[in-house]
Amino acid sequence: VPVLTNIGALARCLQAGPQDDADVIPRAALAWKDGRICWCGPEADLPIYYRNWPFQDADSALVVPGLVDCHTHLAFAGWRADEFARRILGASYLEIAAWGGGINSTVTRTRAADPALLRTRCEHHLAAMAELGVTTVEAKSGYGLSLESELAILEIYQALAAAGHRLVPTLLAAHAIPADFRDRRAAYVALVTEEIIPQAAARGLARFCDVFVEESAFTVDEGRRILEAGLRHGLRPKLHADQLTSSGGAELAAEVGAISADHLECVSEQGIRALAGAGVIAVSVPFASLYLGVKPLPARQLLASGVPVAVATDFNPGSAPSYHLPMAMTLACTMQRMTPAEALKGATIVAARAIGMDHEVGSLEEGKAADFALIDAESVEEWLYHLRANACVRTVRRGELLWEAAG
Ligand SMILES: [Zn+2]
Repeated sequence: VPVLTNIGALARCLQAGPQDDADVIPRAALAWKDGRICWCGPEADLPIYYRNWPFQDADSALVVPGLVDCHTHLAFAGWRADEFARRILGASYLEIAAWGGGINSTVTRTRAADPALLRTRCEHHLAAMAELGVTTVEAKSGYGLSLESELAILEIYQALAAAGHRLVPTLLAAHAIPADFRDRRAAYVALVTEEIIPQAAARGLARFCDVFVEESAFTVDEGRRILEAGLRHGLRPKLHADQLTSSGGAELAAEVGAISADHLECVSEQGIRALAGAGVIAVSVPFASLYLGVKPLPARQLLASGVPVAVATDFNPGSAPSYHLPMAMTLACTMQRMTPAEALKGATIVAARAIGMDHEVGSLEEGKAADFALIDAESVEEWLYHLRANACVRTVRRGELLWEAAG
């Protein structure tokens, strides 16, 4: 159906302008052809040319760009519910790891899992995300932590993309030091830089190279070596930075020209200045802040300094076991003091920039992909304020119906 009419409000989320301006058009219409938007604007201005096209009634819904979840750890086996109560009662990251939990416990289960089963689990997650209006997903490896297993996870993402999912793959071999390399850190860094990165890049399996820079994971120097190796093989840097401590992650992101620095709960003022100067996008992950009980990133300071702030789920089995991006957007409002418009642009055009997809998705304008969601709300503010299990009623990707609520 190429013309959607009776749109109550159309939030275009254009790249230009402040993040607080979602470019909302009341009483709008949207036309598309061959999966691309060819016109959008006030319905009263719909050109005569489109008036003979088949119409579809939006029933006064709010229409937003298909949501972009720009930070997920999509492929993993098992959950870690057994750690939840321990963490609530105050067990530290190191205590959880000593007890047999943490990232390495997911690595053990993921390595042992049948790839077909891992793929099926990813498909279930992606289908549930589509129901929430999400049409583009960044997916990290990082629960393999061996050459064979990291490539196997990226191959699953490649197969899902080939099957039509809008999936952007990131190599995160530097997620943690695997248990089998506990006393051989340098050997693991060498495995990442000399084997995993070159092979993943040569086979076109990843677009970005990510590193977890943190006291419990990789040092700034190790991170720099890994990200520079990625750059030599054409993989643009991303970082998990300054999550639990201010450890120079943001500064490293600026130094290596990362496309994004993610987490940033503990970013320093110097780090914020560095991000602004280098044009790095901050990716906020409010679920991780919520579940770990840490203060959220200083979104107001970042925005005031000229750093765009994306909003993502960080979907993973440990610190953020939810793919509910609209709920993360509401948390970005309440915990991070972002306005609803800032949260919406953070999960659309800014998120698209954070994964190099802004030429294709993230805003509703002529020439871009016809990826959008119909939301049962009168405004962006009402949507994100009135938290419901699901306010999305219809999701369209490449102009085709991806999901529709019953009735
Ligand atoms: Zn993460």
